[in-house]
Amino acid sequence: MVATKGIAMKLTENFSLHEFRCRDGSDVPDEYMENVRELAENLQVLRDKIGKPITVISGYRSPEYNKKIDGARRSQHMLAKAGDLIVKGMTPDEVKAEIVQLIKDGKMKKGGVGLYTHFTHYDVRGFNRRWYGKGIKDYQKE
Ligand SMILES: [Zn+2]
Repeated sequence: MVATKGIAMKLTENFSLHEFRCRDGSDVPDEYMENVRELAENLQVLRDKIGKPITVISGYRSPEYNKKIDGARRSQHMLAKAGDLIVKGMTPDEVKAEIVQLIKDGKMKKGGVGLYTHFTHYDVRGFNRRWYGKGIKDYQKE
């Protein structure tokens, strides 16, 4: 019996694989396991810094699911390199500020950081990109 991808499989101290599973129920494909591990490792740095649990409301997205929710055509979510994050007791803007600082300090990997009304997007694409979700742009400039 092979049980490499059980739902309880831990990626880091505070993150398990099932938290990154697609909302349509599909598992992270084997070829993206290294990506999701790297994502979790970087999110663990954030988790340790803020000392609060992080909820991943969207991690991996299957191409079908991404299309269904009208996600970006080359979304990092389809590579299991992205997480949309919520932290209880922190605003998306505060979460974003922590991530941006940790990237500046070289503690988190460079990547995309998107600010949305109800969550913060982070991905480990390897170079910095910043953007604002719909409705955010006018309310705050970087
Ligand atoms: Zn996202």
